[in-house]
Amino acid sequence: MLNESIIEHRRGVGGGVAFIVCGPSGAGKNSVIERVMEALPGLSYSVSFTTRPRRSDEVDGRDYHFITDEQFNDLVENDEVVEHVTYLGHQYGTSRAQIKSVFADGKDVILNIDVNGAKKLMERGLSDFSIVYIFLTPSSLEILGTRLRERGTETEKQMEARLIVAAEEMKSMPLFDYLVINDDLNTAVAELQSIVVSERCRVISRK
Ligand code: 5GP
Repeated sequence: MLNESIIEHRRGVGGGVAFIVCGPSGAGKNSVIERVMEALPGLSYSVSFTTRPRRSDEVDGRDYHFITDEQFNDLVENDEVVEHVTYLGHQYGTSRAQIKSVFADGKDVILNIDVNGAKKLMERGLSDFSIVYIFLTPSSLEILGTRLRERGTETEKQMEARLIVAAEEMKSMPLFDYLVINDDLNTAVAELQSIVVSERCRVISRK
């Protein structure tokens, strides 16, 4: 068997996988994803649309596309988002055009979305992509509370609301393919990295 034909038997990089990383606000999804993307080639981040106000350390087009409610509603009406949710009064959605272009570029896409958005994708799937569902969380709500407080991007009231949502989100954990515990950043990065690498080593089933 020639080398090339052996390689064709596995999924490889850009084999059309969407890695969905979910978990409560404050779990450290952004930090873990960022580090994994630095370490592994061929991953592209899905920049969501949101109507939430931009935080001072966020960059439009890098962290989110910050848009108005009116613009968001137009996107939904024109079917330009593959899923969307309202999270604590603001809208968030995944761009259809962006994830399509990632696939065309021969890369895999990594999404950072909430549990309700993931559940919608579990029901309807994503054409062109196999989806891997990953739940990322610290090992307790206490640690989560401390992280949110340390991050300091929300008011006390907003943090409380996020913790209530978090407790609810934890109940959906059994629906996911993988669970990454982020008590230690290096460990969580290594775990997520292993998941991506393992999925890329999968043999393409031709049965
Ligand atoms: P934050 O306001 O902290 O940036 O995000 C709040 C929540 O919205 C997080 O759990 C984040 O993962 C989620 N989120 C961000 N973008 C999207 C999206 O496009 N779709 C969905 N369903 N959730 C999103």
